Amino acid sequence: MHSNCIFCQICAEKTETEFLFENETLVVFRDINPHAPVHLLVVPRKHIRSINDLVDDDRGIISELISVAQSMAVSQGIHKSGYKLLFNVEKGGGQVIFHLHLHLIGGWA
Ligand code: AMP
Ligand code: ZN
Repeated sequence: MHSNCIFCQICAEKTETEFLFENETLVVFRDINPHAPVHLLVVPRKHIRSINDLVDDDRGIISELISVAQSMAVSQGIHKSGYKLLFNVEKGGGQVIFHLHLHLIGGWA
């Protein structure tokens, strides 16, 4: 855990953030500044800075992030209407929290 990382703190339950799903690999919570009716963040417990920092051993984590995003889209009822899955990578890519996370965005009318 990186003590100055907000997502590490959230994963360690040091904040009031409500989890919509959690397992030993990752947690899912609502984005605090949603860009759509449904805007969830799927966040690995392991502190990885960005997609650039993935190593071979992290393949299972990425696979699970996408798999859980798929099932969250179903549980949120947006799988049929459609959604976006997004990784922002580094500053130029719009990343502001440097702890890897997958955005699940959808629910437009
Ligand atoms: P990114 O631009 O990909 O780094 O996205 C970071 C996202 O984290 C933004 O959409 C923020 O609104 C969201 N965010 C920042 N702090 C929190 C927090 N404490 N709880 C939930 N979402 C957060
Ligand atoms: Zn972190």
